[in-house]
Amino acid sequence: MSINRKTKIICTIGPSSSSLDKLNALINVGMNVVRLNFSHGTHADKLEIINRIKQIRKKRNKNIGILQDLSGPKIRIGDLPDYGIQLKADSLVHLVQDSCFKPGSDIPVLPVKYPNLIKDVPKSARILLDDGLLELHVEKRTKEHLLCRVIHGGLLKSHKGINFPDLILSERAPTDKDIEDLKFGIEHGVDFVALSFVQTADDILSVKKEIKKAGAHISVIAKLERATAVKNLDSIIEVSDGVMVARGDLGIEADLSMIPIYQKQILRKSNQKGIISITATQMLDSMIRNPLPTRAEVTDVANAIYDGSDAIMLSGETAVGAYPVESVHRMRKIANHVEDNLGLDRGWVREEEKESNYSTEMALARSVCEAAELLDARCIVAHTISGRTARLISMYRPNKPIIAVTPLKTTYYQLSLVWGIFSINLPKFENDFLETIAIGDRVLKERGCVQDGDLIVISAGIPASSPGGTNVMKLHVVGSD
Ligand code: PEP
Repeated sequence: MSINRKTKIICTIGPSSSSLDKLNALINVGMNVVRLNFSHGTHADKLEIINRIKQIRKKRNKNIGILQDLSGPKIRIGDLPDYGIQLKADSLVHLVQDSCFKPGSDIPVLPVKYPNLIKDVPKSARILLDDGLLELHVEKRTKEHLLCRVIHGGLLKSHKGINFPDLILSERAPTDKDIEDLKFGIEHGVDFVALSFVQTADDILSVKKEIKKAGAHISVIAKLERATAVKNLDSIIEVSDGVMVARGDLGIEADLSMIPIYQKQILRKSNQKGIISITATQMLDSMIRNPLPTRAEVTDVANAIYDGSDAIMLSGETAVGAYPVESVHRMRKIANHVEDNLGLDRGWVREEEKESNYSTEMALARSVCEAAELLDARCIVAHTISGRTARLISMYRPNKPIIAVTPLKTTYYQLSLVWGIFSINLPKFENDFLETIAIGDRVLKERGCVQDGDLIVISAGIPASSPGGTNVMKLHVVGSD
């Protein structure tokens, strides 16, 4: 990644992109983070991809983050005949929990893979199938089945998703499967864990507890795709390291027409808090089939950046599409144009601040950005252990490049998702501040980020070894003492 590029790109990896050649090609055109979707595939498949990414990181010295996406309590239809079942509008259908149960009539039976179906879904509930394309209405609930009227019909195939947009379901995220998957992710060193179908802050805290128990350091991202999550946004943001506007399921669970408004609200609040924000799903959807996106998709990608996304995500485009590399290339090109035209004014972040309490780190982060602008510095260099100061600097969205220098591998990789940050991993920080700066100069020059005589604005902590202790700003000319 060039130090001048700001928006991060996440690619979902699947059959179209999992080979070593394709992963390298995606990195060459601008991918920053791989997303492994644990709704599909086996641990063995995922491990192969993780190992390939680790191999590339080492060989090419690339900062590519690994994001594990836990499936959460996603409910699906069970096995149906290969050709599916045609549901006719106004006809009746039975939904059953147990695929062995046969209600004994001509009414078609749809098995549902959810043990609490009958308990959780009352008479009059609305049920959406296959991304909301089909709709049912519950007319009767018995001990064994739900009798439903088909409102919008169509062809239904095995394993399609089911959503209950108006209900709070008893099965919560993380599920037992999520915990098993998380243990796998921890064991194999993922950098981020995204939890699907989050409803409350407690769901995120449960994942954090597991990570802490294992002694790991992984950023936890709340996927916001339920109406209840939008309602509980403030408390979820309070405990999360990042949020994802998961527009796919959000467009089913909540009112589809509200997505742009939710997107803006979620991004604004997460930007103010200085946590990672991701906009996801159908960003360049038509590129699954075509080499060029639609005008509307190009505009959607641009608007997600204008709205304040740290990262934008590709799903089917890179996982199963015919043009994975072209999709990333196109996304990067749109991002470059938007970034070149963003301008300095992210004034709303600062406006909101007036109401909040300043920490020492926030004051320092803001001052660093202002000094870099006033002095037209080459870049901002954040010497950081936990990554927090670098993230706070990014929160102010400076025009100047932010280079995070860190001795921790975990911090190095976790900054791969943060807006505007280019990271460098040093073996260790020296106790002597001036020595640390001199080593920083050398490494920055080796990486082609700066040259002798460039003015840079440095943030650091003295003493150097304690995280959370950023307390110094130095206006420094590269190559001088
Ligand atoms: C979404 O629903 O938008 C999303 C990102 O989640 P998934 O791809 O797991 O459905």
